[in-house]
Amino acid sequence: MEEKALEILNILNEKGYESYIVGGYPRDKLLGYKTNDIDICTSATPKELLSIFENVIVSDTQYGSIVIAYKGYKFDVTTFRKEIKYEDHRRPIKIKYIKNIKKDLLRRDFTINTFCIDKEGNIIDALGAKEDLDKRILKTVGNPKYRIKEDALRILRCIRFATILNFEIDKKTKHYLSKYSYLLKKLSTNRKKEELDKIFSSTNKEKGIKLLIDLNLTNALDISRLSMITICTDLIGIWCQLEVEDIYPFTKVEKEQMLLLRELLTHNSIDNYLLYKYGLYLCTVYADIKGISKRKLNTMYNNIPIKSKKEIEINASDISKILNKKPGKYIKEIMNDIEKSILNNSLNNNKEEIKEYILNNYS
Ligand code: ATP
Ligand code: MG
Repeated sequence: MEEKALEILNILNEKGYESYIVGGYPRDKLLGYKTNDIDICTSATPKELLSIFENVIVSDTQYGSIVIAYKGYKFDVTTFRKEIKYEDHRRPIKIKYIKNIKKDLLRRDFTINTFCIDKEGNIIDALGAKEDLDKRILKTVGNPKYRIKEDALRILRCIRFATILNFEIDKKTKHYLSKYSYLLKKLSTNRKKEELDKIFSSTNKEKGIKLLIDLNLTNALDISRLSMITICTDLIGIWCQLEVEDIYPFTKVEKEQMLLLRELLTHNSIDNYLLYKYGLYLCTVYADIKGISKRKLNTMYNNIPIKSKKEIEINASDISKILNKKPGKYIKEIMNDIEKSILNNSLNNNKEEIKEYILNNYS
């Protein structure tokens, strides 16, 4: 994919525009991680880009953010810019396209996000960010006092990078993350959730969660329960314990899962019946939170006599025939009893035995 990006840089160069791969890709490359997300910056304006490339998706004209589809890949392309004024501590209300890359790098969030790759594939470190990268330190470009305040999303981006890359946050930057935490209230829950999802899904999430707590960010994020939860692998498992489904955006299915999981968590132990009722996925999350071995749970699930109602060897019309009675409410009652008896191994899932059981107990 980098090859294709370099082709774009060369096309732009032939037309007289300067351009680089910037941001996450060079950073991750220096750290030895492979990513498939390449951001390009250029002196060409969106209008000029539209005239050069065929497949251009203009995603955000106002801010000059563009996606170029090229030879099967998509690249985010932004024109070198200076951000003039910020609104609501999030978006700049005015940007100015510029011809100079260095000034564009100065408006970026953290030093480790300012590396560039030029059209020959060389890594360029115009702001001297290599030292921070080597020391594994996250530091704002310029004074954090202003850089955090002008865009509060940087607070969460900082925690996210510290978590995923396992970096430490520079002391002064850290101070202002905390100091301006109240500005997080102004951000959209969508954007906040995107960042929190990345933090909570990381294999290094303990670090991110500790930072969110230690830097006192939880109240402003409406996740004050964070210090009380049991950290688990599953993302829904974490959100469920935070009890914020009315504050943050979730799909209908996710909401249902959280509700069911919360119900399941009120049980002290798991048995065949709960496994059958809630299914393996929710029970696995339960086991993770309650510290039950996954192996034990899987064995239990594999040995469960039935996994759904359909597997019961008798149906409603069989029951009415056996008892020689018109179908009615009583059938559901009997079905539930049979289901429970099979699950607690007091009745075998065998047509003849179930028939006998019905005759003995219900005729
Ligand atoms: P990843 O793609 O892995 O999430 P990234 O660093 O590439 O990480 P993007 O959101 O793709 O992050 O942004 C690309 C680059 O744009 C960043 O590396 C950074 O230089 C700049 N950037 C993004 N968001 C901001 C922001 N809120 N403030 C300042 N600069 C930003
Ligand atoms: Mg990126």
